[in-house]
Amino acid sequence: MNRIIRASAPAKVNLVFEVGQLAADGYHPVNSLFLALELREELTLVKGEAGTGISIYVHGAELPEAHINAVPTDQSNLVHKTAVLFAQKLGKQIPDLQIDIRKRIPVAGGMAGGSADAAAMLVAMNEFMHLEHGTPNLTIEELAAIGAELGSDVPFCLYGGMAIGTGRGEVITALSNLAFETNWLLCASSKGLSTPTVYAAFDEIGSHTVFTDLTDASAIASAHELGQRMSNDLEQAAFRLMPTLSELVDQLEQLGAIRAMVSGSGPTIAALFDSEAKAVEVSNLLKSQGLVALTAKGQALGARLDG
Ligand code: ATP
Repeated sequence: MNRIIRASAPAKVNLVFEVGQLAADGYHPVNSLFLALELREELTLVKGEAGTGISIYVHGAELPEAHINAVPTDQSNLVHKTAVLFAQKLGKQIPDLQIDIRKRIPVAGGMAGGSADAAAMLVAMNEFMHLEHGTPNLTIEELAAIGAELGSDVPFCLYGGMAIGTGRGEVITALSNLAFETNWLLCASSKGLSTPTVYAAFDEIGSHTVFTDLTDASAIASAHELGQRMSNDLEQAAFRLMPTLSELVDQLEQLGAIRAMVSGSGPTIAALFDSEAKAVEVSNLLKSQGLVALTAKGQALGARLDG
């Protein structure tokens, strides 16, 4: 029987993103407070005809065409890499697969879109290999260890909720959920920002932080308190590369956002509102100005199989 396996995984925002000095291994250590958003990539996987390899179809009606077109469908797609690595780890042949990715997360937007796809694929492959080859189901920790080889944000997309990410962001310490729901407006840019370019600009600016203790974050009691706590060390670098982002942050705060901030390496701006109605109202206003705006709630579960 050719079963359809469905999996989904959430977008992330970095509520706090502290970046240290470039290390000898070429990476920057980070201290990040992640929150998963109810904006999920959906992936379906079916067994392909023998000998057809891996085929990937990407679509997503809510995103601009340019975003969908920027996602490769060949072996450079993170989902393809996930399938190959997963099979290798189990010592199995790379299976023939037909994969459908329904994208909702802006591409190259600093919201872990590719990482969410990889996380959904890890969960889907775990099930597929179990059903097809009787391999034991891997634990979330084992999946996260494979995910860390694919990208720093993949482990968090597996865990979801709220968590601290250290190392390159891949060492996850899960935290208890916030006691309140958060309402976000996400304003995507038609152009992406490459993460390495943003880090290079950050190194030029040369401001490195002393990492703060984030373990008390679950005690944050309100959206306003959360807004005061939000920070992103890469924001000035993103502003330097795309000066319009700074104007957009100001505009969103004037329109009533508790706090608007570049998400991760940008260029998506994540704006926190005190109600869903207000987030939707401002999102509609931005859309009428031709901008790409989405709303989403936090927090969300990590990657999971969907029935
Ligand atoms: P992060 O927040 O984890 O740094 P991001 O959200 O900024 O990532 P992605 O959406 O993951 O960025 O895309 C970065 C680049 O990765 C894209 O421009 C694209 O060329 C490539 N890519 C490979 N696989 C995927 C995928 N499944 N989805 C999106 N982009 C992918």
